[in-house]
Amino acid sequence: MSRGARATVDLAALRANLRAAREAAGEQRRLMAVVKSDGYGHGLARVAGALAPGADAFAVTDLAEAMALRSAGLRHPVVLLQGPFSTEELAPAAEQGLELVIHSAWQVEALAAARLPEPVGVWLKVDTGMHRLGFPPEAVADTWRRLAEAPSVRSEVGFLTHLACADDRDDPMTERQLAAFEAACAGLPGPRSAANSAGLLGWPASRYDWVRPGIMLYGASPFSDGRRGHAPLRPAMALEGQLVAINRHAAGEPVGYGATWRCPEAMPVGVVSIGYGDGYPRHAPSGTPVQVAGQRTQVVGRVSMDMVAVDLRGLTGVEIGAPALLWGEGVPPEEVAAAAGTIAYELFCRVPPRPGRRYTDSEAG
Ligand SMILES: *Cc1c(COP(=O)(O)O)cnc(C)c1O
Repeated sequence: MSRGARATVDLAALRANLRAAREAAGEQRRLMAVVKSDGYGHGLARVAGALAPGADAFAVTDLAEAMALRSAGLRHPVVLLQGPFSTEELAPAAEQGLELVIHSAWQVEALAAARLPEPVGVWLKVDTGMHRLGFPPEAVADTWRRLAEAPSVRSEVGFLTHLACADDRDDPMTERQLAAFEAACAGLPGPRSAANSAGLLGWPASRYDWVRPGIMLYGASPFSDGRRGHAPLRPAMALEGQLVAINRHAAGEPVGYGATWRCPEAMPVGVVSIGYGDGYPRHAPSGTPVQVAGQRTQVVGRVSMDMVAVDLRGLTGVEIGAPALLWGEGVPPEEVAAAAGTIAYELFCRVPPRPGRRYTDSEAG
């Protein structure tokens, strides 16, 4: 018998979340499904395959991820969110029909000098205040002209910016960024794109021509308060283990490394076959929610590499081999992340190969 640890991804949940994103975006807008970082840890090719019928384009981090989409047979436009990392990447990008986000002067010069087999699609990245990547607003018009004149650049050049604080629905930074974006590209032709998941759901003015949802496609809230708004999002990934031991301890007995938690009374404590070696956060403290045999309970003591202890008080019908759900439908990944001092994005991206990925389709007959 295996230890029963696995990450199960429901392809139907991905499709349902994409429908919710489309619904929020409205008919006339196009949607770039963000599948960077191995589909937020869910498995790039499988995720993209599930989203393909409803996505107008995909967005990834680098050429390797884009080539993986092509190898999976997907012909969609694929946007490289950081553009080329070197001049050598321009020709393969053009051949593969990729689109490049251009954020630095060297990339503009490389494109202006390039003679590519096909003209390449380009997005001009505007730094409207996040101060990570992009051209300052005052440089946009000149940069646009240089790109639009380059023979290797396909028309039209798009405009793209990234929102730093859209996850907080009360933060005035988002409106400042949108105003800066509109002023920077005023009067220039070409599609606009600003909205990540939080923008799409929380800031209608950020939707423009193309929306770029990521985290919501995987079923987690993009908002810092963990609320999912009105979007009917379903966590696509379930991190599952099983009970490998049930022990009774006396009042006052400690559980786990460092003896950080003690039984407040004589009680049953379960041991679940998931640990930080499976991507469950070691910083999830006692009290973090978990489900055992379909009933909500809590983690007790420190998370080990291969195991975590759980409170079995008040649970019924619990025996060795009972299923445990560390996050998924019923145990919101946002709640687990908040307890562990992180965000659902990081939980997903940190699931290593070990627990294995299993794909299901809850809508398939
Ligand atoms: C990751 C990313 C997104 C998607 O963000 P979510 O918060 O996951 O929706 C959109 N745009 C850019 C440029 C990104 O890097």
